[in-house]
Amino acid sequence: MPPVNNGYWGEPTATIDWCEENYVYSYYIAEMTNTITNLIMIILPLWGIMEVIKQELDWRFIYLHSSILIVGLGSWAFHMTLLYGMQLFDELPMIWGTCFLIYYLSEVQKSSFSKKMFSNQPLFIFLSLFAVIFTAIYLLWPQPLFQHISYGVLVFTTVGMDLRLLKINECKTCKKIFLISAAIYLFGFILWNLDKIFCQNLRLLRLNIPGAFDPFTQLHGWWHLMSGYASYSQVLFIIHASYDFKNEKQTRQNMELQTWRYGFSLGWFKKSHDL
Ligand SMILES: [Zn+2]
Ligand SMILES: [Zn+2]
Repeated sequence: MPPVNNGYWGEPTATIDWCEENYVYSYYIAEMTNTITNLIMIILPLWGIMEVIKQELDWRFIYLHSSILIVGLGSWAFHMTLLYGMQLFDELPMIWGTCFLIYYLSEVQKSSFSKKMFSNQPLFIFLSLFAVIFTAIYLLWPQPLFQHISYGVLVFTTVGMDLRLLKINECKTCKKIFLISAAIYLFGFILWNLDKIFCQNLRLLRLNIPGAFDPFTQLHGWWHLMSGYASYSQVLFIIHASYDFKNEKQTRQNMELQTWRYGFSLGWFKKSHDL
């Protein structure tokens, strides 16, 4: 461990201190790159919420975007302070938010949007119990690996559900969204690991290159950018797949949802015949 320069937030109390050196650029921000890169998980969901409103999509998708927004805010607070309470604000919403995604993935195939927020009660109760039990255990036993594995299991579940939906609906747009976001997420996860494994080498490298290149070597920050984009795309996937299964009355007549603005937006366009 290198010497820790204490900043405004004092001695780190989190159970993890990432590879980025603490309080290098600011007295108020412990890990600058790892903090700033969370903007993607704040800006994209806010953009997504605006789009849901503008395109008059089902109101529940606002909650899906919001669950990513909460993780982004939590992760910002965690990397900015390295305080244990803020670590929980990042890690617990990651678990709850992914449970929420799983719930909505299970609703995709319905032919209409139900009026209730949670119509599949058994699954809702199961996922709630999972989230509550995880939270109780993690508070008593704050072992980061336990959080990482639990999160990993949930991510694998969403991937499995995505693949199943792709097989059923054979939608080209959904397939494109899935492939791009899965590849980016996987690449980000590789960087997350490399940042941990080669931390000493990366720190040494940073001592020997101009400061302007520093952010490029903060692989955990790159993980934020990539997982943030992939999570946002996962919500777009759920939205598109949901409308693929909805009956005519639930969609706009002679219109179909398409991705545009380089995959950052979904909008209604006139049905084209060559699709
Ligand atoms: Zn992080
Ligand atoms: Zn689709």
